[in-house]
Amino acid sequence: MTENNARKEIVLEGIAASAGVAHGKAFVYLHNELEVPCLDLHESEIDGEIERFNRAILETRAQINDVRKKIEGSLGEGEAHIFDAHLLVLEDIALIDEVLGEVRQSKKNVEYCYDNVTRRYMSFFSSMEDEYLKERVTDIKDVSRRVLHNLIGLKKVDLGELDENSVVVSQDLTPSDTADLDRDKLLAFITDAGGKTGHSVIMARSLGIPAVVGLHDATHRIRSGDEILVDGYDGIVVINPSENRLFQYSKVASDRHRLEAIYRSILPEPSATVDGHEISLMANIDGARDMEMAVKTGADGVGLFRTEGLFLHHHGYPSEEVQYQEYAAVAKAAPNQPVIVRTLDIGGDKTTGGLEYQEDDSFMGFRAIRFCLVNTDVFKTQLRAILRASAEGLLKIMYPMISGLPELREANRILAVVKDELRTEGHAFDEEIEVGAMVEIPSAAVIVDLLAAEADFLSIGTNDLIQYLIAVDRLNDRVADLYQPAHPAVLRMLQRILDDGRAAKIPVGICGEIAGDPVYASLLLGLGADSLSMSSSLLPEVKYLIRKTKITAARALVEEVLEMSDTALIVARLEAFRKETVGIE
Ligand code: PEP
Ligand code: MG
Repeated sequence: MTENNARKEIVLEGIAASAGVAHGKAFVYLHNELEVPCLDLHESEIDGEIERFNRAILETRAQINDVRKKIEGSLGEGEAHIFDAHLLVLEDIALIDEVLGEVRQSKKNVEYCYDNVTRRYMSFFSSMEDEYLKERVTDIKDVSRRVLHNLIGLKKVDLGELDENSVVVSQDLTPSDTADLDRDKLLAFITDAGGKTGHSVIMARSLGIPAVVGLHDATHRIRSGDEILVDGYDGIVVINPSENRLFQYSKVASDRHRLEAIYRSILPEPSATVDGHEISLMANIDGARDMEMAVKTGADGVGLFRTEGLFLHHHGYPSEEVQYQEYAAVAKAAPNQPVIVRTLDIGGDKTTGGLEYQEDDSFMGFRAIRFCLVNTDVFKTQLRAILRASAEGLLKIMYPMISGLPELREANRILAVVKDELRTEGHAFDEEIEVGAMVEIPSAAVIVDLLAAEADFLSIGTNDLIQYLIAVDRLNDRVADLYQPAHPAVLRMLQRILDDGRAAKIPVGICGEIAGDPVYASLLLGLGADSLSMSSSLLPEVKYLIRKTKITAARALVEEVLEMSDTALIVARLEAFRKETVGIE
């Protein structure tokens, strides 16, 4: 990390998660506890900082007086008295002087110093024998929270109320956070935690906005309202960017626009290599609202419809009718094209959001198909809705997190029951609807022949497959460097799945994030994937690349990298292949 106080520009380095450059105002979003930023001040900023502190004390005094009046009116003078003690703490000259002294001496921001000083006071009082003095700790705690809230300018915020051109800064964003997000006003987002395949990253890609993750402490270093530049290509975030920096980045953005126009120019052409080998390039969507973009980018259908978004947005289980409307809208938006609807994949990073389902966000727990096979009412309602919507288009059903044959069989058994019910009730649906399974758990990857006997298609979820194969949590920024799609074990496993799928004559697609990464696209093509499904915003570049690739060259590339043992060298070789093939920079 480099800092340049003269220009007051601060550069943070994280993981480049979604491409693009954005320049806007920070909106710091914290889930629970108050996070106190620790910032280095320039000498010239100290007077302003003290001024901020004075204003926060006045604001807090007005708030305490207000509360005092309300309590006096409702509960009487006796109860209201406690707020007099709060005012005494707030205006304690010794405490205030200590904070001001610390700001001047340490040149740290005032909330950081105030937090330090009040913590010292609290630990001093709590060590006292005297009960009365001990109780002062609670008063200090209350007052300090109020002052800190006023200083940090932070209320429990709602992501549905973003200002225009906001860059959301958060520890992490869960799907339940983003379910209500005002997507039109979101320019970019950056997070402390996270790896390249977290839900929030996937969302950024589907919106085509930049994201940088794994910054560790961005929420401590940035305040709401700070001017921020986000470089989603190189994983850089600049706080208070200089004119020079902005100029430099405006060039990066215009170069990128030029490239994107070139990529988009081939969108009406078929998804095929130079030598005529076809591969479907499909869209990953979260709901009907993503279909406009999928159609615009000429996707050959939907390879993965993640239905969790609908559930999280509803803060509970949506009714059959609500689900039917959503699935039917997607089917109608893609006439004559396949749409793979994945049944509920709740759990892992897709936590609760008001659903009665509660568990630590473990990736290996009671989630996805495991949850659905126990909560059969929820599962059946969803299957009914998908089946009914299959009368409106070419829908397919896909089960997530299949770890063995019994789960696939049980899911299919329930599906058969639901079909019977619909027939009896006289509902129309596609009797021939295809049913597939995700291959995202290593145990499923090694029994492709068995799964293929009872499924119509398979789709490799590399996001999960890689995390389970390498035992590396896909969201944990501390182990993000171990999350390696080009690890020889991953390549061998992909080869095995695709070879076994071909032997069983079952189509196998790829819908994890690497399917939309131009560095991996030719490799996956060479390995024999029948389809690649990705966020629509990534599709033009991948299609451009595929149309420049020769299938023979892609197969030779596979042979070459499967002989290699060093992940970094494999990535370098794949990157070199991409560059040679695309031929533009
Ligand atoms: C995957 O695991 O690769 C996948 C596509 O599913 P998700 O990212 O929703 O877990
Ligand atoms: Mg998955």
